[in-house]
Amino acid sequence: MEIIKHIDEMQKRQEALRLKGLRLAFVPTMGFLHKGHESLLIEGKKRADDLTLSIFVNPTQFGQNEDLSTYPRNIEGDLAIAERNGVDAVFLPDAKEIYREGSQTFVNLDILPNYLCGLSRPGHFRGVATVVTKLFNIVKPHVAIFGSKDFQQLAIIRQMTKDLNFDIEIVGAPTFREPDGLAMSSRNSYLTAEQRQTALCLIKSLQNAADLVKNGETDPETLIRHATAIIASFPDTAVDYLTVCDPVTLETVSHITGPVLFAMAVKVGVTRLIDNMTIEP
Ligand code: AMP
Repeated sequence: MEIIKHIDEMQKRQEALRLKGLRLAFVPTMGFLHKGHESLLIEGKKRADDLTLSIFVNPTQFGQNEDLSTYPRNIEGDLAIAERNGVDAVFLPDAKEIYREGSQTFVNLDILPNYLCGLSRPGHFRGVATVVTKLFNIVKPHVAIFGSKDFQQLAIIRQMTKDLNFDIEIVGAPTFREPDGLAMSSRNSYLTAEQRQTALCLIKSLQNAADLVKNGETDPETLIRHATAIIASFPDTAVDYLTVCDPVTLETVSHITGPVLFAMAVKVGVTRLIDNMTIEP
């Protein structure tokens, strides 16, 4: 497994493999890898001849009062997981390598960031779209794999890939969960044992919404009211948002007639957790 820290070295490696006719897969991450990340690596191995993993805690996607300085890191552990999953190259740049002095170009989308997490994290998706664009130009993949846990991020990357004519197949992988249903996340490491139990309020309220719809409920407000009550029944929780929306445009829906996305962000203590489920009548 190659470990590469510099952009030009990464680009040269990828170009040489392209010239040999190999198909290249890419999984971008911020590290502190868990089984959710591993499921993306497994998907990448299946879909290409060569797999690159990037580990980069991207400063431009963190707000001023967010957890950039405390974001969990474990490079040794990450490299062991990468090796175990047959990763061929790990791209491990530092922030100065990615954001060179004097750089002034950012990638902005007009509409998709104006919903869900974009409302409480202004500038977040500008940071995400910019870094993913840069990583696409550095890693030059044929296929890139992203998790549906970050549903809005996946929608934004699909849109951006289309708008900017990246010749890259974007694959969305299902959310990988703990046995009790909690969506795996690097940020789960912030939770105390008690908060870890409380964090189940997200999946419980999503499952409840799915059951309501299965039993004929078509009013999004009813789903939101039930979810609010479930979440409030757990200690130390605060809803950031609960939204029933169109899975493509992310616009809120007023009546459920087809597949909808139920997406949420909930604070458990100081830790902000997100989850979502696509629900069909
Ligand atoms: P992160 O390191 O949190 O930036 O995530 C890197 C990639 O892993 C993103 O495409 C995420 O959507 C994906 N990911 C994070 N958690 C999960 C999960 N529980 N299941 C599947 N993919 C995930």
